[in-house]
Order: sequence, then structure tokens, then C-alpha cells
Amino acid sequence: MIDADLRDELGALLDRRAAFDEPLARATSLRVGGPADALVRVDDGAELAAVLRLCSAHSTPVLVLGAGFNTLVRDGGFRGVAVRLGGFREISQDGPVLRAGAGATHTQVTRAAAEAGLAGLEFAIGIPGTVGGWVAMNAGTREREMRDVLARVEWVTREGEPQAADRDALVFEYRHTRLPEGSVVTGARFALRPDDPERIRGRMREQMEARRASQPVDQPSCGSVFKNPPGDHAGRLIEASGLKGQRAGEAAISDLHANFIVTRPGARAADVLELIELARERVRERTGIELETEARIVGEPA
Ligand SMILES: Cc1cc2nc3c(=O)[nH]c(=O)nc-3n(C[C@H](O)[C@H](O)[C@H](O)COP(=O)(O)OP(=O)(O)OC[C@H]3O[C@@H](n4cnc5c(N)ncnc54)[C@H](O)[C@@H]3O)c2cc1C
Repeated sequence: MIDADLRDELGALLDRRAAFDEPLARATSLRVGGPADALVRVDDGAELAAVLRLCSAHSTPVLVLGAGFNTLVRDGGFRGVAVRLGGFREISQDGPVLRAGAGATHTQVTRAAAEAGLAGLEFAIGIPGTVGGWVAMNAGTREREMRDVLARVEWVTREGEPQAADRDALVFEYRHTRLPEGSVVTGARFALRPDDPERIRGRMREQMEARRASQPVDQPSCGSVFKNPPGDHAGRLIEASGLKGQRAGEAAISDLHANFIVTRPGARAADVLELIELARERVRERTGIELETEARIVGEPA
């Protein structure tokens, strides 16, 4: 539990934008998970820096949440302060460069790119979340990832100091961008190329149609649960282990794509975690391959 002083200070700083003992199930796309001691919404850089400094002074863990499309919160919830970016949504254009705040959503950014006649972000239309989540995860597809389109990333450090770096100074890994521990991404610039808006929209439609045919995009999930191991696909390995459609409580391994776990109302994080362990075990037994989760698993068991 966060201490009473921190609670008061957060309340004084953010008023109704600081909620306490707040269920995180509502803040993540899997719709499972227990409460955060505090869930706060910050609307600008000064508020973000103030919250980070307060948490640092009280030695309190911070969980940054974008739109929660790749986060699984355990049933016991998060002991600390979960921070969401409420503002940070501004999008602007400078020639072929699009700048977006970290709170801007995938829909807002891809729509802005298409309207501006800027190509390059078509692959990202079906990667739901925020710019902060895109950058932190180096989100991508088989063809492209954020590293290929980012020109610059802006963030604040755990101590609340603003920093920025060009793409070449950053280290991108498979579904992870290395930033100083505890940093919060505040914005990003994307280097795009001019193209006809209708052609861009056409490619975006194709991307979405392909996803709808192969992924359970209309059901609660966190996208790919596991990273693809070198030279193979986690979905193929799980399917070959006979687990498509496997249920645990109100969660199931999708029968459309075996690397997705979908939930129904009443599901618990424990149901999802049971399926994750089952898939890992079966694939290990059959192939010797150790699957690694792509989704970020946070919080305490119930
Ligand atoms: C149907 C579906 C399809 C998907 N397809 C893909 C896909 O093709 N490719 C892919 O890569 N992903 C995919 N995903 C996963 C998800 O869309 C991406 O990981 C996306 O980048 C998550 O963004 P978010 O804002 O929701 O992040 P969150 O889930 O909120 O956070 C993810 C991680 O990023 C960190 N984070 C978030 N915001 C910030 C910030 N401002 N500063 C620092 N850290 C931050 C969080 O702490 C957490 O560790 C899919 C998910 C779904 C549900």
C-alpha cells in the first residue's frame, strides 16, 4: 500500500485525476487484473515530472500505462502508482516528419498520417495502443517495426528530467526499446514519405482486413502473448501442440490465432496465466523451445 502522505500529495496535485484502489481490469484490453493502489492521470509534462518525483521521494513503484493493449495485470493488482498520460495527444507535421505526443492513439496517428499524405505507418494501423506503448515496445509486424519509422524519441527520466534522442542513438530490440530505467516516453517523431492519401488509406484497409481474417481483433486480448522464437512462430508451435480453443475459466486460447488468449466477462488473470503456463509447457515438451512472453505481466498474485 502507498503511504498516506503520498496519497494526500497525489490528491492535492491531481484532485479527481488521482483514484485510489482502482481496478486495472478497466485500464487493460484483457479486462482482467486487480486494483492499483493509485491510478493517476497526468495531463502535461509538469504534472508527470511532479508525480515521478513524488513516487521517487516515497520509494514507490510506478507503472506507466498507455492504452493497456499489451499488459496483463495479475489479480492482486499493483502495489504502487499506475500513471496514465491524459494529455500528450498533440500531433503536428513538419514536412515528411510527423510528431505525436505519447498519449496519442494508434487511430489518431495513423489517421493523421493518411490525411497529411505521409506513408510509412500503414503497418501500425492494427497495432492498438498509444505512441508511448508503440515506442516502449518497439511495436511491429513481420515486415516493419517502430525502429524503421522513428526519427526521434522524447521522454522524462524517473527524476522528472526531460530528455530526447535521435533514432540512431537508441537501442531497439525485439519488442523493446532501451531507455533509461523508469523513463516515461512523452512523444515521438516519425520520418515518413509523401504519398497519395487514398493509396495510404487503401494499404491501411488491406492491413486491417488481413488482421480481421487471422486475429480475434474484436475480442478482449493483449495481442501476441509470446514472442516468436528465432525461425519459427509462437502461434504455429502452440497450435501444433493441440491447444487452439483450450479454456481455463473464462479465458481461452483463440481458435483463430493460437498466440492470442481471449477473455470473457468474469475472467481472472489467473485463468490467462494458467493458459500461458500450459502453452509454455506443451511447447517445451514437444520441441524443447522455451517461449518467452511478449505481453508485459505486472502486479501481484491474488
Ligand atoms: C488485437 C491486438 C493486436 C496486436 N498486434 C500487435 C502487433 O502486430 N505488433 C505488436 O508489436 N503489438 C501488437 N499488439 C500489442 C499492442 O498493440 C502493442 O504492444 C502496443 O504498442 C501497446 O501500446 P499500449 O499503449 O496499449 O501499451 P501498454 O500495454 O499500456 O504498455 C505496454 C508496455 O509499454 C510501457 N509503456 C506504455 N506507455 C509508455 C510510456 N509513455 N512510456 C514508457 N513506457 C510506456 C508499459 O509500461 C508496458 O511495459 C496487439 C494487441 C492487440 C490487442
